[in-house]
Amino acid sequence: PEVRLDTAPPVSVEPTPPVVAEPNARANATFVLLCRNNDVNGAVASIQQMEDRFNRKHGYPWVLLNDEPFTDEFKNRVRILTDAPIHFGQVPREHWHQPDWVDEDHAKAGREKMVAQGIIYAGSVSYRNMCRYNSGFFFHHELLQPYRYYWRVEPDVKFFCDVNYDPFKFMQDNKKIYGYTISLVEWEATIPSLWSTVKEFVAKHPEYVSPDNSLAFLSDDGGNSYNLCHFWSNFEIADMDFWRGEAYQKFFDYLESKGGFYYERWGDAPVHSIAAALFARKDQIHFFRDIGYRHDNFQHCPSGNDWVKGRCSCDPNDSFDYGPGSCVKKHEELFL
Ligand code: GDP
Ligand code: MN
Repeated sequence: PEVRLDTAPPVSVEPTPPVVAEPNARANATFVLLCRNNDVNGAVASIQQMEDRFNRKHGYPWVLLNDEPFTDEFKNRVRILTDAPIHFGQVPREHWHQPDWVDEDHAKAGREKMVAQGIIYAGSVSYRNMCRYNSGFFFHHELLQPYRYYWRVEPDVKFFCDVNYDPFKFMQDNKKIYGYTISLVEWEATIPSLWSTVKEFVAKHPEYVSPDNSLAFLSDDGGNSYNLCHFWSNFEIADMDFWRGEAYQKFFDYLESKGGFYYERWGDAPVHSIAAALFARKDQIHFFRDIGYRHDNFQHCPSGNDWVKGRCSCDPNDSFDYGPGSCVKKHEELFL
């Protein structure tokens, strides 16, 4: 057909409006990713998926933390991925390393005992630094002070689905303090004295325990023993004001005073999970069943309408939720 220039609509010279929502439409929240410079490829892969599947429409900031300074190469590889603000920070030395009061002979003996048991990261001090940092310090980092909610991301994880709503606002609107996608049982050998330490703390501070807690998620015998269930903390959407609050601060200080982050290998996952389950109301912990996620060999793939709406790339029949070793059912039973 003949092109009629006189009636053709004027060519728009307007720039495409930015897809980032107005700042006040966002919750007070950020992503947090702790990694090393040599994790760059995995960090880029995770950030790219998060941007594509969720953050492109929101522009939430990123805070990347490292116990060493990030290299320019690392920063350039990450900055190219998004227009959202990205802050690169270093962990203060005193928040990372094994404290001097820890008895290194005792700690070394603990590591060697665990190596003999064939436990993953058994002999690693840096892994213990990381677990202790994630348990008690990351939310005190100066770059995180402006924020209340965070979404923890790790290198080389997978986000399978579009997230068509704002999980941070969901947390805020529903007064949630902790959100997870995968829940499983811990290796007992990494935390032999954790539960007795928790029981001592609770005996000293019964006032911190919520009347509507999730103890039945943690214990099958009314609190006598720990059933090892926890939320997998490599994915967390949570409220840092809960970690910064009096109950958790006192709890962490008590755990720290026992030295179990180094004498044993207490993980931030059981530490966070036990605190959330005891000190928050059970309705403040949320299973994000609509968010598809994979870390190492475990994945949560949404099913049904969630899978369709999320255009998920995972197999909906391949989800850890109700398999052996999963604790999702135990969490759901709290609400029956
Ligand atoms: P896993 O998930 O328990 O197997 O432990 P990872 O090796 O994935 O470590 C958990 C998180 O901490 C990841 O985001 C890692 O990149 C980060 N991480 C672990 N160790 C170190 C470390 O020594 N330095 C830094 N900067 N990050 C670390
Ligand atoms: Mn990991």
